[in-house]
Amino acid sequence: MTEVVAAPKKRAPQELRRISHWIGGEIVPGESGRSGPVYNPAAGVQQAEVDFASVEEVDRAVAAATEAFRAWRATSLSKRAELFFGIRELLHQHREDIARFLTSEHGKVLSDALGEVARGLEVIEYACGIPTLLKGGYSEQASTGIDVYSIRQPLGVVAGITPFNFPAMVPMWMWAPAIACGNTFVLKPSEKDPGASLYVAQLLQEAGLPNGVFNVVHGDKVAVDRILEHPGIAAVSFVGSTPIARYVYENGTKAGKRVQALGGAKNHMVVLPDADLDMAADAAVSAAYGSAGERCMAISAVVAVGDVGDRLVRAIEQRIPKVKVGDGFDPESEMGPLITREHRDKVASYLDKGREQGAKVVVDGRETVPEGDGFFLGVSLVDEVTPEMDCYRDEIFGPVLSVVRAKTYDEAVGLVNENPYGNGVAIFTRDGGAARQFQFDVQVGMVGVNVPIPVPVAYYSFGGWKSSLFGDTHAYGPESINFYTRGKVVTSRWPDPATSKVDLGFPQTR
Ligand code: NAD
Repeated sequence: MTEVVAAPKKRAPQELRRISHWIGGEIVPGESGRSGPVYNPAAGVQQAEVDFASVEEVDRAVAAATEAFRAWRATSLSKRAELFFGIRELLHQHREDIARFLTSEHGKVLSDALGEVARGLEVIEYACGIPTLLKGGYSEQASTGIDVYSIRQPLGVVAGITPFNFPAMVPMWMWAPAIACGNTFVLKPSEKDPGASLYVAQLLQEAGLPNGVFNVVHGDKVAVDRILEHPGIAAVSFVGSTPIARYVYENGTKAGKRVQALGGAKNHMVVLPDADLDMAADAAVSAAYGSAGERCMAISAVVAVGDVGDRLVRAIEQRIPKVKVGDGFDPESEMGPLITREHRDKVASYLDKGREQGAKVVVDGRETVPEGDGFFLGVSLVDEVTPEMDCYRDEIFGPVLSVVRAKTYDEAVGLVNENPYGNGVAIFTRDGGAARQFQFDVQVGMVGVNVPIPVPVAYYSFGGWKSSLFGDTHAYGPESINFYTRGKVVTSRWPDPATSKVDLGFPQTR
């Protein structure tokens, strides 16, 4: 494989790498004159410059994908499956290289980055089953001499627009099922950590994916807007913040596209008084602070029901000093930096706001920031939070955990259901009946029972409710096969001279 973009080794290189587009199977340096910085957040320094696509560059990628579509959709299911097995194998072999891009540009610790790649690979494994997934239905002799069958066909060129927090996995949620279904793909990754996408593009080529089937354009609003209005793009998958998800959904559907737009989150963990306290405290710490809280399924608010609050806060507080914050390449580190300096400062500002609005800052992460210029913030715990406070209302997307007290189960469920987001939620209890009632009552798309981050396995689908998802279709799993294909029903009769006659009546089924 040509090493156009070498996997970063341990630290930022001295010279700036340039990250360009991938169109029609080759690196295409951007010519728009616009570009943006890619940081090494652990060191707080710029390590690369990424080209931002112009309208013409997006059009070029769509043209390459359009040209590749005709042959790709005609490629047999067995060949597609074989190719996907090869893709899975090659990406698995290079999982550490991919993970290094994530740690280097996003900042998450290497073990977490490897976990991200592993969860993405599961979606590729699911796509290996494409011959079975695309099986249609068949009704023989629906009417005399007439058979009826259903088939699913690809849409054409489809696009994916992805967030910074899962630079490898979320694109895999999209391109793997889309391409397996016979579509060709244009990816617009986050401009904050775009390196992994280009590296994966090269691996897909090496695995044998025909040129033009997978393309990458980097950029900002200019590229996104062109994707939304381009008449040659049939469908758009988006994952990111709620305001942009709403924008993408409204504008994409206005342009006649099929759109699924997954938005932000404010995930609650309800802890009932009978919960296993150690299990709940361990779960709260790992789900709130893993990946520096920059997960759409991170726990942001613990709702302590009845008298469990004081004991639970104490148990979480006791665990916090054990969380080692540092460079993600250091095997001792459990939590890395935040994505940018601005984001780190915004996250930290919620601690002051919380204090001003009457909350109790039990642990202030600003007091445990590692030395250096990295975009670090230690873990924070805020107690006595109430629903009107900013730290409860906003998606903070950082290592700040709020604790809200609720007198009863009903009050706790009310809090969750009144929240505008509905991505993930968890309940911790030993009472099976209470857990079952919670699953029935709660208005959230993904529910964990004593599981704090209930990200569905690849053969189910991922998606939230309310402001966490615009559109009807969830990501990956069976719903992705529906999203990336259109149904067709064929009613068929073959000539039989013995029964040949003209009949102007309405077709009968008997
Ligand atoms: P973001 O919305 O800022 O960016 C997402 C994508 O939209 C990027 O590719 C970006 O370039 C593009 N974009 C940004 N501003 C735009 C604009 N004004 N016009 C057009 N395009 C624009 O999100 P982010 O900060 O990269 O990611 C974090 C957010 O993503 C959080 O809110 C998190 O909850 C959410 N997220 C949700 C899920 C989910 O499954 N629901 C998964 C991961 C992340």
